[in-house]
Amino acid sequence: MASIFSLIAAGEIPSYRVASDDKHYAFLDINPVAPGHVLVIPRREEDYIFNLSDEEYTDLMLFARRVARALEKAIPCKRVGVAVMGLEVPHTHVHLVPLNSEGDMDFSSKKQIAPEEMARIAEAIAAEFE
Ligand code: AMP
Repeated sequence: MASIFSLIAAGEIPSYRVASDDKHYAFLDINPVAPGHVLVIPRREEDYIFNLSDEEYTDLMLFARRVARALEKAIPCKRVGVAVMGLEVPHTHVHLVPLNSEGDMDFSSKKQIAPEEMARIAEAIAAEFE
């Protein structure tokens, strides 16, 4: 059975898309730790990031860096934090979080952001993606 993130990348489950190419998909985390919290996934389903091939791993991180550059422009922050956990969804995903302080990356403290604001944030990041 396809993972929830495969269904999102295929457009079968809605998401706040910020960027994509033929191998990757980036979208807002539905329960963000900070406004602009993005998840970047490879379209190919692989649970554990360190089981990706060298090429897949490199391509994913290069794509995530392009998303991070867009994030920095769209959401003012000191830098973009990166984390990979995968304890909840068994499909590799890189968390990108705009940081102004250490507390902005507290994964035990999720925020609720209104749908209109989530859409606005996603559009702002997408507009900066190169
Ligand atoms: P983890 O697997 O521990 O890295 O956590 C999975 C992350 O995916 C969490 O931050 C969730 O909020 C996020 N998540 C789960 N389902 C969705 C969804 N349908 N759309 C966007 N983000 C999601």
